[in-house]
Amino acid sequence: MAPRVGFIGLGAIGRPMAARVAARFESMVWNRTASRAESFGRETGTAVAADPTALVDWADVVITCLPTSVEVREVVEGVGDAWRADQLLVDCTSGAPAGSRAIAEWLRRSGVHFVDAPVSGGTSGAAAGTLTVMMGGSEPGIGRARDVVSAFAGNVVHVGPVGAGHALKAINNALLAVNIQASGEALAALVKLGVSGKTALEVINASSGRSNVTENLIPERVLSRRWPRTFRLALLDKDIGIALEVLQETGVEPTAIGVVREAFAKARRALGEEADHVELIKEIERAAGVEIR
Ligand code: NDP
Repeated sequence: MAPRVGFIGLGAIGRPMAARVAARFESMVWNRTASRAESFGRETGTAVAADPTALVDWADVVITCLPTSVEVREVVEGVGDAWRADQLLVDCTSGAPAGSRAIAEWLRRSGVHFVDAPVSGGTSGAAAGTLTVMMGGSEPGIGRARDVVSAFAGNVVHVGPVGAGHALKAINNALLAVNIQASGEALAALVKLGVSGKTALEVINASSGRSNVTENLIPERVLSRRWPRTFRLALLDKDIGIALEVLQETGVEPTAIGVVREAFAKARRALGEEADHVELIKEIERAAGVEIR
């Protein structure tokens, strides 16, 4: 029988994910700011829970998509003994491995399964149902989670035990951050030398320095001067911090990732909590006195 799916956290990426879940499963949503849940409910015909406990009472599978593991833990523990044996929590937050292990252990005492299932592919991938989901956990949770996340995923990979999905996601995003910073600095220098951003990218994207940042993010967001806000810089800063914890836990000395942590933390202070992650390049442009065009 198809599970009843509850979705908690209708933010920039949670909302389009929840819409795809609602189109496939009987579902219910909850969001801290109630007006967002109500407008989602009106647009999609989805039931809105009065609080997380009502949602957990109703659901077989609960999906969370919150900023960090701290908020996930608050919500999960706040529900208290409403959790029932054999329920499943699928945490799509880009969380911290240690945080997910603690949440999994807390839920295990009530017989609830936990799978960390962070996503990549951005808000457009969520709307298109093409996200990559990296899952940490064990059976039977993994199999049940796979079924539910397929509503918004094009690619689902079981990467290891609880926490492994969150570790891999943080490392992926640290690589994204390295590419944003390095590409921004490199292009600022080339523009100052008189090479246009467009020409530089034409060559780089046909050469070995290319990445998703040079192929997609910079043309679409920087050269166009559009700077859309889809993924907060503050969240990427959080991800770099988690990646550094993973390196520390494993005894690998950070160099590049340590440098980008400083750059993103500084940009976060300068640009605020709502700035988009690619806006780090605005700070590079400001310091270099140039616009990448
Ligand atoms: P947003 O900041 O847009 O949304 C955060 C959501 O969490 C909102 O629904 C917010 O509710 C809710 N929330 C915040 N604090 C609390 C709290 N204390 N208690 C309950 N709910 C809370 O984030 P995104 O949707 O962009 O990101 C969600 C997760 O997905 C993050 O971990 C992020 O790193 C990850 N992610 C995001 C991607 C993106 O492209 N945006 C891509 C891949 C992963 P409210 O409406 O009340 O503010």
